[in-house]
Amino acid sequence: MKKYLYTPGPTQVPLEVAIEGLYPIMHHRSSGFSKIFDEVCADLKDIFKTKADVLCFSSTGTGVMESVVVNLLAKNEEVLIVRGGKFGNRWVELCETFDANVTVIDIEWGKSINPDQIEKILNKKSNIKHVFLTHCETSTGVLTDIKRISEITRNYNSFIIVDAITTIGAQAFYMDEWKIDVAIAASHKGFMLPPGLACVAISERAKRQIMATNIPRYYFDFRKMLESLKKSTTTYTPAVSLIRSLKKSIEIIKEEGLENTWLRHERLAMATREAVQALGLELFTKENWSNVLTAVKVPETINGIKLIEIMKNKYGVIIAGGQAHLKGKIFRIGHLGFISDFDIIIVISALERALVDLGMNIKIGSGVTRVQEVFTDY
Ligand SMILES: *Cc1c(COP(=O)(O)O)cnc(C)c1O
Repeated sequence: MKKYLYTPGPTQVPLEVAIEGLYPIMHHRSSGFSKIFDEVCADLKDIFKTKADVLCFSSTGTGVMESVVVNLLAKNEEVLIVRGGKFGNRWVELCETFDANVTVIDIEWGKSINPDQIEKILNKKSNIKHVFLTHCETSTGVLTDIKRISEITRNYNSFIIVDAITTIGAQAFYMDEWKIDVAIAASHKGFMLPPGLACVAISERAKRQIMATNIPRYYFDFRKMLESLKKSTTTYTPAVSLIRSLKKSIEIIKEEGLENTWLRHERLAMATREAVQALGLELFTKENWSNVLTAVKVPETINGIKLIEIMKNKYGVIIAGGQAHLKGKIFRIGHLGFISDFDIIIVISALERALVDLGMNIKIGSGVTRVQEVFTDY
């Protein structure tokens, strides 16, 4: 059966990107590889919209999150974390693991934080040194107003660290303009690559703190990585094939134009939201939705786990379910990376068929019609 992947990571990989990974392995201490690595690291700056150094190494997203905590936090520092879903919670678990003094702002899943809440806490606890955020909380589809929060945190001199794993390369992100200290990305999201590569951009101010901290680190030592980067190389054996593939995927993004890539995601998100509502379904995220996925409430009359199973097993269309307490309650359609207008027609038509299979009284084609209307109009 032909398979179609619509998850907010991993994402579909264009054939040209996959093929790059099949070339004979280059030795990583060769001038040929150094040239590719240099180009990739320079292009990554453009994608993060930064002049800061961007490190690129083998890991998934969680590994790069851990590496940031290990490198940036000194012992027993005060951190503030916004938790509105599974990935905000990951920052909490990580910071607790490495003995930070954690203050959590809990947001109802599906809602976004009001930046004033952060200001209130920073006012009360002036010793908070780091603020950890999730740009797009992938478990709910909510987008956080990083720009506004950063305007607040800079008055308190705290570092601002952003998990932008699902948004980099897909949705507006301005590392320097927004004065972000640390921003992270991963290969299997907007970069349209297989899982296995992580990127982290580090401001000069964050670099100074990283050099000064006293927490043990070895493989994920940014101090060593930054030294190697100056010599156009990596500390240990890099994922040479993935880095070749990344070069190709950046080429694809540049060919479209980064801002156009953002606009495409906006259109895809709009069409998806409109289509599910045309089918009588309710959006889970009511405001401040991201453009990289759409979270939808499962109607009470049907089984949400079954819906996803039918889409996958009968139609070959893979979407994501809800996580933690939202399991069975929502489904999430990823429209992230290598996705075009017509891919949205596929996922919505499979959704229509699965809803009918489950006995829901919908008009088949009404979602797809709405998709076509949106794409014709915008
Ligand atoms: C995918 C994702 C991660 C990383 O998860 P891994 O499975 O380790 O790659 C982290 N944060 C967000 C917001 C994500 O979407």
